[in-house]
Amino acid sequence: MAIPNFTAAELKRGEALFKVPSAFVKGVVKVADLPNEGRPEVAFAGRSNVGKSSLINALAGQKSLARVSVTPGRTRELNFFTLGKDGAFYLVDMPGYGYARAPKAEVKGWTRLIQDYLKGRRELKRVFLLIDARHGLKDSDREIMTLMDEAAVSYQGVLTKADKPKAAELAAIEAKVSAEIAKRPAAYPQLIATSARTGAGLPQLRAVIAALADGGMSI
Ligand code: GDP
Repeated sequence: MAIPNFTAAELKRGEALFKVPSAFVKGVVKVADLPNEGRPEVAFAGRSNVGKSSLINALAGQKSLARVSVTPGRTRELNFFTLGKDGAFYLVDMPGYGYARAPKAEVKGWTRLIQDYLKGRRELKRVFLLIDARHGLKDSDREIMTLMDEAAVSYQGVLTKADKPKAAELAAIEAKVSAEIAKRPAAYPQLIATSARTGAGLPQLRAVIAALADGGMSI
């Protein structure tokens, strides 16, 4: 499984960051309403139903921090959560995209929101692009990757639901996704495979976030 190796100290920093309870700050539907205190943030993006809410809740160890949607694609806002002591950082839950049954006007609205947010957000340290470990990359993921490449937003692929495929299938998807991501200019090459269900990959993802929150970009 694509799980990076970190030192005990790096893992410990990740654990400490997420030990502090996170709180919902606000939901933003237009960029003018984005928080502007300059706190660093990381964002989670992915197709609707990719397991984004489940992953955020599992990372935080809080069952209902991000709303696990009953209807796919129900969250239409950029949801801001505090991260760490004194809420020094933000974790941003982006609206899920690629939901085929959503009304066109709505799709247009949140595509615009995602575009505007990604293009001009200096606080944004990295976007974690969530990819279902059973399905790999879809065209809607490629569209957002292109947008982030053009805006020079650093992003990293995170496989979700890694407990679902058999080991060989997972390895094949990882190889395929890695090869495609390696060609992308703004993408961080290391994939992280996770499961909200088993907890696999969560300590490593927490460590990456802690390093970014500390101002480091190296892991
Ligand atoms: P979101 O729309 O991206 O926020 O996705 P949700 O977190 O609501 O999850 C969508 C569906 O995938 C739900 O039925 C979850 O129970 C399921 N799911 C989420 N994470 C995992 C996981 O790690 N493993 C498995 N097997 N199912 C998961």
